[in-house]
Amino acid sequence: MSRNLIVCISFFVFSTVYSQPASQLNSVSRPKIIVGIVVDQMRWDYLYRYFDRYTPDGFKRMLREGFSCENTMIPYTPTYTAPGHACIYTGSVPAINGIIGNLWYSRALGRSVYCMEDNSVRTIGSNSNAGKMSPRNLWTNTITDELRLSSNFRSKVIGIAFKDRGSILPAGHSANAAYWFDNSTGGWITSSYYMEDLPAWLKSFNDKKLPDQYLKKDWNTLFPISTYKNSTKDSNAYEGNVAGEDNTFPHIISTITSNKYNTFWYTPSANTYTFDMARATIEGEELGTRGETDFLAVSISATDYVGHGFGPNSIEVEDMYLRLDRDLADFLKYLDQKIGKGQYLAFLSADHGVAHVPEFLKENKLPGGGSDIPDIMMHLNNSVDSAFGVKKAVINISNYQIYTDAKAIRDAKGDAGKIKDFIIQQLLTYNEITTAFYVDKITEVAVPEQVKNMLINGHSQKLSGDIQFIFKPQWFEGGDMGTTHGLWNPYDSHIPLVWFGWNVKAGKTFRETYMSDIAPTIAAMLHIQMPNGSIGKVIGEVAQ
Ligand SMILES: [Zn+2]
Repeated sequence: MSRNLIVCISFFVFSTVYSQPASQLNSVSRPKIIVGIVVDQMRWDYLYRYFDRYTPDGFKRMLREGFSCENTMIPYTPTYTAPGHACIYTGSVPAINGIIGNLWYSRALGRSVYCMEDNSVRTIGSNSNAGKMSPRNLWTNTITDELRLSSNFRSKVIGIAFKDRGSILPAGHSANAAYWFDNSTGGWITSSYYMEDLPAWLKSFNDKKLPDQYLKKDWNTLFPISTYKNSTKDSNAYEGNVAGEDNTFPHIISTITSNKYNTFWYTPSANTYTFDMARATIEGEELGTRGETDFLAVSISATDYVGHGFGPNSIEVEDMYLRLDRDLADFLKYLDQKIGKGQYLAFLSADHGVAHVPEFLKENKLPGGGSDIPDIMMHLNNSVDSAFGVKKAVINISNYQIYTDAKAIRDAKGDAGKIKDFIIQQLLTYNEITTAFYVDKITEVAVPEQVKNMLINGHSQKLSGDIQFIFKPQWFEGGDMGTTHGLWNPYDSHIPLVWFGWNVKAGKTFRETYMSDIAPTIAAMLHIQMPNGSIGKVIGEVAQ
């Protein structure tokens, strides 16, 4: 190293260190706990759609005292639950973190795989199979892993959600625990990936059987039903139902005896119970009160169940958000008391949004529809058979991608290239399909750059299918009832992102930010390494 360079580096170090205020020299300031709150299927517009009847202390408090990134977009497609939770906590996208859907087709196994499945582990806390899950399919680490690494594993990290994928992915690989809800016991379980026995505090919490208490109450509207002016009428043929019940208020759940815990997922009490569990975890593990920065990752699942069944224009969704707002207010008050105002860093976001119910749109002369994917698959296979004499050339359709069966085509001495070209032409005959192309030729296809980037970010050469197809806006895989999400469009990809508490200034930005920016922003605020697959950018405006 030349002498000049040494002088230069010395000067740089000297000037950098001594330009900082004295208070920053001796210690790095961090919050006592970080609380991540992901609301499953919460569209950004729900912050404002129901604003007038939110309390001052829930969503409104976060918006008033915190920092809102008003244009936060998901940077990839498909926009499903597992990729969403993975992106928030890894700062990464499916192409890098390997979570390309909730489910995808495995050519190696010859079947669909579930993102969290892991047959090498056992359920802890129940005799069901619901605990045979782990983060092993996640290729990257998470901000929660980086927090553990940064503190030499003194920081505790725990994930909580009714859905296993809403709990496991946020908690990362090195988590102390991830807990999810078990329908057979009505309590919280985990897997042997994390531990051999539930902690004593959780056994006593499960023993309280709170879901049984909650299920004794029927679900009626918080306000008189006539005042739900942001929603369409209560009963519609295109509405799904609360499991085991029907589609109108009051939802009589107190008399349901069979599979009652399945029904529980569709009620606002499931959200309240998730916050009960969050409080019990903080108490049981002494999170945020041990002199280390801990991380509690909470995901709210019932919003997704009710959203799928009833859609964004339903009284059910409106009422659920009004009640969730009250739960959120109580939880923030609890954190103020337990951890201290300004001592915890919280963020609220969502894993994806949702489309309107197509039948509701049709009723109002708006375009859209549900596409019957199994029917498309049958049609494609019949057409290929007639034209080329190859049976079952399409083996699977997942995440709007066609997986062809190379072996079936080879065995029947078919020309794979010609068959795939033929499939693309067949796909384009469907009214709802605008574009179909070879997945690995994406850079050559004439689709707008923004959509192209989202598709590239969602594509894995190892895991994805052969042919991608794109729908017209407001079309998706589905039937005549309910709705879903999973595409590139803004209703699916525009999510809330509100920061609150420690070191967060009050304000907002309309600058476009991304779901993948959340993890690197936390890393920057904490002065720790960003996750190992992160491609997000720090949202500098958030911090004071
Ligand atoms: Zn979801």
